[in-house]
Amino acid sequence: MRPVQYNTNVKMVEAPEGYSGEGYFSTSFDKIVGLGRKNSLWPLPFATSCCGIEFMATMGSHYDLGRFGAERMGFTPRQCDVLLVAGTIAKKMGPILRQVYLQMAEPRWVIAIGACASSGGIFDSYSVLQGIDQVIPVDVYVPGCPPRPEGIIDGILKLQDLVNNESLRRRHNPVYKDLMESYGIQ
Ligand code: SF4
Repeated sequence: MRPVQYNTNVKMVEAPEGYSGEGYFSTSFDKIVGLGRKNSLWPLPFATSCCGIEFMATMGSHYDLGRFGAERMGFTPRQCDVLLVAGTIAKKMGPILRQVYLQMAEPRWVIAIGACASSGGIFDSYSVLQGIDQVIPVDVYVPGCPPRPEGIIDGILKLQDLVNNESLRRRHNPVYKDLMESYGIQ
């Protein structure tokens, strides 16, 4: 019989700030929720061109986004909380991207992957949206044309920091409300 092998490299996430003693640990509710959200992001890939290929590499076994708890891709906005926009977005595509964003439930976040999604990139033309933040709010911008998978992972880590530390009631935050209003979103 072959001996059972255990993966000894498995690491636990760090516990949030709190109080502990023999047999107990206590912390605040928002820290626990932040920890859970941070480590179980469900991405929705909105890939339209070359940056999408880099994203596929990020999902592959070598880079393995599953190491960050974000391996569960969803292709329905109602089951996802991170919109990953990777590629050139034509102006005609803008309203569709916005509709996908609106169909996602709160809390929801957006990462613009690469120069095209962030700013239109090299396509300073009549047909290309000069950055997706013209139609939806963006939380993290990943630079590069294309960004390497390491850059995309860095963007995910930046988002994880944000998710971990933001308020449980982000939707009720006046700054967030103002941001949504500026996009005409209620
Ligand atoms: S940023 Fe560069 S690699 Fe990415 S979609 Fe645009 S042209 Fe392609």
